[in-house]
Amino acid sequence: MSSAKILIVGAGPAGLSTSLFLSKAKIPHTVIDKAIFPRDKICGDALSGKVVHILNKYDKSLVEEIASDKNYIGSYGVSFFAPNGKRLDVPFSTNPSKLKQAPGFIATREVFDNFLFQKAHSPFADVRQNTSILNLRRSENQILVSYQTDNSIREELFDLVIGAEGDRSITAKALAPFEKNNDHYCAGLRVYYEGIENCHAENFIELHFIKDILPGYFWIFPMSGNRMNVGIGMLSSEVSARKVNLKKELEQIITTHPVISPRFKNAKAVTDVQGWGLPLGSAKRIISGDNFLLVGDAASLIDPFTGEGIGNALASGRLAAEVIEGAVKTNRFDAAFLSEYDKKIEASLGSEIRLSHTIQKLAKKEWLFNLVVNKAIKNTTLRETITCMFEDLDIRERLRKPSFYFKLLFNR
Ligand SMILES: Cc1cc2nc3c(=O)[nH]c(=O)nc-3n(C[C@H](O)[C@H](O)[C@H](O)COP(=O)(O)OP(=O)(O)OC[C@H]3O[C@@H](n4cnc5c(N)ncnc54)[C@H](O)[C@@H]3O)c2cc1C
Repeated sequence: MSSAKILIVGAGPAGLSTSLFLSKAKIPHTVIDKAIFPRDKICGDALSGKVVHILNKYDKSLVEEIASDKNYIGSYGVSFFAPNGKRLDVPFSTNPSKLKQAPGFIATREVFDNFLFQKAHSPFADVRQNTSILNLRRSENQILVSYQTDNSIREELFDLVIGAEGDRSITAKALAPFEKNNDHYCAGLRVYYEGIENCHAENFIELHFIKDILPGYFWIFPMSGNRMNVGIGMLSSEVSARKVNLKKELEQIITTHPVISPRFKNAKAVTDVQGWGLPLGSAKRIISGDNFLLVGDAASLIDPFTGEGIGNALASGRLAAEVIEGAVKTNRFDAAFLSEYDKKIEASLGSEIRLSHTIQKLAKKEWLFNLVVNKAIKNTTLRETITCMFEDLDIRERLRKPSFYFKLLFNR
């Protein structure tokens, strides 16, 4: 068994994924989180096909458990509402009749994160909650970490620290300082409602692209028990440039938008409106170095167009664990060795994040958004291509075929 001391800071999807895959590789490690589980996290709560894909890589029984748990609902697609009010329904699968389970799920983060948190307990993982990291500093070839647990402050040396504390990562701030850039950061608000009418029969998530908040969107995500996750997300640079009060914008949409407000006629908010930031993957930042790796939001990996971050948090945790396995075998925790993680992130998520960033920039143009939705409503090939973006995670093969462009041009 390895004697390397490995610490994961943060037990959200990124930290827990790292932990699960490390345990699978029989690598001992410690996980700390400042919260006591189950705990909430401000989020849209949508678990995409990528989440399902990574969980299946770990153990297929996890998704089976999720699919049979009443706290989750299965979602089969997404409804895009263009600024002109037109609606485009895109299923998450091109062949829904062949599906064994729903392609995506929705559940509160209290439920989902606690599910992973319980799974993380293993003979290889020392999982501690109510333990908050305070500071880190380099000490020769290790990192000296000070953390608080109950009322005592302790210090301990680690060979490797994985920063997984999300947007406000202390590990990232201490070891890879980075200035926040509002062009690559999104502000998000969330509130739970009950009683919203006319939701999709197959629990499609709804993204409403409304002129005043482009390239952001207003969302309604159905949940179990007649509950809905309602929210709004907008690029921080646009919030500042247009002096938008996001909370007022959210209220205004719910009370006055011609398509949305009638559906809220008999609905009631069951929580306060709460906000949190989304560090987007289009930002370029250092994600590894001597004795550390950053995963999930701490590494700024959220999809710039959809705002989806749980899938990339899980994916980055898995890739981090692969690199750590090699580091432990060779006893190499230096920046040169750990830069393998950067390469894996680029190979796995790079092109997808760049494509999403391009779409995000194009989505600022209201007319273009309307045009694409109008075209996709009539064009099966375009609709299927959008489905492939959710299903295959790689549409490059399709884009390479000349027949694709023929069908696109001739409305097939
Ligand atoms: C409004 C909003 C809506 C969103 N909607 C969606 C969506 O529908 N689908 C989707 O896929 N993504 C969505 N996201 C993004 C998603 O929430 C994040 O990408 C995801 O939570 C990242 O996971 P993580 O593990 O990196 O960080 P987190 O989930 O933030 O977890 C970090 C963990 O670190 C712990 N921690 C923090 N500081 C310390 C400390 N000092 N010491 C110890 N522990 C600490 C925290 O308690 C927490 O448990 C949304 C985000 C926002 C803000």
